[in-house]
Formats: sequence, structure tokens, C-alpha cells
Amino acid sequence: MDIGLPPAVVTALTFVILGLLVWVLLTRTVLGRGFSVPLRNMLRGNETAQYPEKPRPVAPRFHGRHQLNRYADGLEKCIGCELCAWACPADAIYVQGADNTVEARYSPGERYAEDYQINYNRCILCGLCIEACPTRALTMTHDYEFSADQRSKLVWTKEQLLAEVPPGGEDTPHTDREVRQRGLNYYGGLAVTPPTLHGGRYKPAATAPAAKAGDIVPTGQLPEPDELPPDPATVGGPTRPEPGRDR
Ligand code: SF4
Ligand code: SF4
Repeated sequence: MDIGLPPAVVTALTFVILGLLVWVLLTRTVLGRGFSVPLRNMLRGNETAQYPEKPRPVAPRFHGRHQLNRYADGLEKCIGCELCAWACPADAIYVQGADNTVEARYSPGERYAEDYQINYNRCILCGLCIEACPTRALTMTHDYEFSADQRSKLVWTKEQLLAEVPPGGEDTPHTDREVRQRGLNYYGGLAVTPPTLHGGRYKPAATAPAAKAGDIVPTGQLPEPDELPPDPATVGGPTRPEPGRDR
């Protein structure tokens, strides 16, 4: 059929009409939308990850294994309250609390976790426990490489969960005298463990940044060792009875 147009124009119009038909097929029909997915991915680059040599970064809010955090001086944030254990829907946490004493202080509160275990055979990494924790002692890291070949190895102990002692701090226990002399206000509202963000790069959780002293002391200044604490209500306090003596 002669429509009076040059052959080149007829060819171009034919390609335009065919292109429109393909576009309508791929975007406006169920069958076409289904086919468009493999067609799109055929044109994409290779997605292979070189794991474990180059693990891909996880999402910022990824729920990896847990960590029990410390204050900048090394005291443990966990006060053995068991709220995390009660919040856990999988009954995966065991906490045995005990009293701090004048000579052996593990946390700034009355009590600390003498024993703390998380059973990763049960844990579903939901994060309800870290929401329940009142001192941000318990957080979740980006570490997901903790599989094991025995179920017993998936019960993590306090020693495994406890964060490293921050630079300048000391491992627990401390004495009440040492802690009082530091004069830190542990509950000043600033003692927050930063989230374990790795800036898009993977790092083992053990090297995640810890809270600095400046985050704990409102002024950012640590007191001199022989300076009295500014607030006698901080850690322990002089009213704490000697062991074995009634108030
Ligand atoms: S992440 Fe969820 S399941 Fe795991 S210990 Fe915490 S509350 Fe329990
Ligand atoms: S981790 Fe937090 S919620 Fe659990 S016992 Fe310690 S302070 Fe309480």
C-alpha cells in the first residue's frame, strides 16, 4: 500500500510503533511486568559478593550478636535488673544478679550481673531485650559470624558478651573508694553507648567505638584523683553500710 511517505519515514514510524507496543506490553500487562524483571537484570552488573574475604556492609540497624557495655572507666553498665530476660519472647536470657560491695564494685548501681548468658539456640535477634534495658548496658552489634558446630557453644557467657575495657579504664571489680574519687555521674543522661555504625564498612564488633569520658561527665572534664565527688548521691556514696553491719 502506497501512503505517499518516503520509505525511511515509514521504517522509522514502524520502529516507533513497535517500541510503543513493547513498552505497553512490559509496563501495562501482568505477563510483561513479569518478563521485565529478568530482562532488566540481564543488563545489570555482577552481584557476587566475595564473602568472607570482603563481607558486604550490613544495614545500620542490623541486629547482630549482643554486647554488654561498659562506662569509660571500665565499670559495667549492667545492673542485673533482669528486665531484658523478662522482655525476651524466646526465654533466651539468663541473668543472675548480685550485690556490689564496698570492696568489689562492678556497676554503679546497687547490683550487677554476677552471671549473664544468652542462648543463641533460642534467640531470634528481635531486639526486644535491648529496648527493655534501662541503662543501655545491652546493645546489638553488627557481628553475625557466630555460628558453631555444637549447641553448647551457642550459649554465650558474660565473659564473651562483655565489651573490652575502654582505653584508660580498668577491668572490674573496682573499690567504692576508687569509684567515688572519680566523681562520675553515671546517670547524668549522657552515658550513652553509641550505635555500632561502621560507616558502610564492616568491622568486628569488638572494635566498635565505646563511650568516651566526655560523653559521661556533663562538663567533659574528669576530676582529679583526690577530688571529692561533686554529688554525694553518685555511685555508692558514703552512706553505704559496711558489709555485715546494719544501717
Ligand atoms: S534479641 Fe529477642 S530473642 Fe534474642 S535475647 Fe533479645 S529479646 Fe530474646
Ligand atoms: S542488660 Fe540491661 S536489662 Fe538486662 S539485666 Fe543488665 S541492666 Fe538489666
